[in-house]
Amino acid sequence: MPAQHCLCCRTPVNRSLALCEACEADLPWQPPSCSQCGLWRAEVVSQRRLNNDYNPQFTCMNCQHLPPSFDYCSSVFAYESPISTMIKRFKEHAGFHEARCLGDFLHASFRQSYVEQESAAPDFLLPVPLHSARLRKRGFNQSAMLANSISKRSAIPVLWHACNRRASTHTQRGLNAAERRENMRSVFVAGSQITQISRRHVAIIDDVVTTTATVSAMADILKSHGAARIDVWCVARANSF
Ligand SMILES: [Zn+2]
Ligand SMILES: [Zn+2]
Repeated sequence: MPAQHCLCCRTPVNRSLALCEACEADLPWQPPSCSQCGLWRAEVVSQRRLNNDYNPQFTCMNCQHLPPSFDYCSSVFAYESPISTMIKRFKEHAGFHEARCLGDFLHASFRQSYVEQESAAPDFLLPVPLHSARLRKRGFNQSAMLANSISKRSAIPVLWHACNRRASTHTQRGLNAAERRENMRSVFVAGSQITQISRRHVAIIDDVVTTTATVSAMADILKSHGAARIDVWCVARANSF
């Protein structure tokens, strides 16, 4: 096996995963979270403990009152160091060692989840599209790479043109959740493959989910074209924003 170095601490590692065992154990795994929006909140967990409710599948109050247009959201990690740094290197500096490592974790979590839920895996994977100008600038779409990584191992096809991204959005920075949602509305439009998702179970793949504004906007389009179930899969979930 070619020698490689731990992506976090740079010590040489002698296994296929590019992380040493100590750094792997220290990763910020996402704790049990709301199964619909994927959000973890300390107060929800302590309230559930008080009620002796240890069921790992639960829906938070927000989702009970105002459910998002997707049905399920799962994240491998919380968006914290060193995962945030790995994602940054992947996206901004074409860190393909990081991409491979994060793709491995995402696929493992994806596969395990459908086994545990005893539910059929999705029919299609839908990476969150980048606007063409952004794609040209970056040279790759990080969500597409992650979707490809799951597809290769699971044989679930990727639908590349179910949704298109219309134009570069104004920056989402500094906007609250409602403003972000408004900003994202009309960003996604149905693409040439949209009819294929009718009555199908699909999974949106993204690198980081923050306020869910992006995935909600995409899920709105998919739902309006008849998607039967929409799951969202991401490498990291921001639990506070
Ligand atoms: Zn290490
Ligand atoms: Zn929720």
